[in-house]
Amino acid sequence: MNAKEVSQIMNQIHQAFLRINELNYRIQRARHEVVIKAEGLKKAENLLTERQASHQKLEIVAQELEHEADFVSRGLQRRREQLNVAKSAREYDSLKLQIEMDEAKSNRLTDETIVALSNLEKSEIELAEIQKRYKDDLTAWETANKEFHLTEAETLQEIQITLERSKKLSENLPMEHGSIIARLVNDGNEPLAPIIDDLYCGSCNEGLPPEVILNVKEGSALCCASCGKLLFISEEASS
Ligand SMILES: [Zn+2]
Repeated sequence: MNAKEVSQIMNQIHQAFLRINELNYRIQRARHEVVIKAEGLKKAENLLTERQASHQKLEIVAQELEHEADFVSRGLQRRREQLNVAKSAREYDSLKLQIEMDEAKSNRLTDETIVALSNLEKSEIELAEIQKRYKDDLTAWETANKEFHLTEAETLQEIQITLERSKKLSENLPMEHGSIIARLVNDGNEPLAPIIDDLYCGSCNEGLPPEVILNVKEGSALCCASCGKLLFISEEASS
C-alpha cells in the first residue's frame, strides 16, 4: 500500500468521524431542547400554583364579605321590625340610630363585595390563561421528550453504522495505522488529526516537527506528540 492510498483511507475515516461528531451534536441539541422545555414547564407550574393560591384567597375574601353582608342585612331587617313595635321614644331613637349605622355598614359591605367579586372575576380569567399556558408548556415538553427519544434511537443507530464503516476502512490500512486507530477509538476519541498548512496539528493546533510531517507524507504511522492522535495529510491540503 502506497502513501497516497493510506492518505485516502485516512481521509475517509476522518470524514466518518466528522459525521459522528455531527450526529452526537444532534443528540445533544435534542437533549438540550428537553431541558429548555422542562425549565419552561417548571416556571409555568410555579406560576400556576402561585396564582391558584392567590385566587383561593380572593374567593375566601369574597365569601367572608358576602357572609358579613348577609349578617348585617338580617340584623337590619330585625331592627326595622322592632322599630315598628317600639315601646318608647327612647327605644325608637336608639333603634333608628342603630339602623342608620347598619345601613352605612351594609352599603360599605356591598361596595366591598362588588370590588371583591370583580377582583375574583379578573383573577379567574387570568388563572384560565395561566392554566392554558401550563398545558401548552406541558405539551411542548412532551413533544420535545418524544422527539429526543426518537432522535436518540435513530442517531445512535447511525453512529453505530458509521463506526462500523470506519472500522472496515481501517482494516485496509497497514497494521501499525490500524492498531493505533483501534486503540484511540477505544478511548472514545476521534482517532485522526489532519496536518494543517504543512505546519501544525489540526486537532490540538500544536506545531509539528518537519521530519514528522515528511514521514507522514511517506506513509508512516506517527501521532501528534501533544494530543496523541494519528496524523494524516488531508485531501483538501494535498489537492
Ligand atoms: Zn495534536
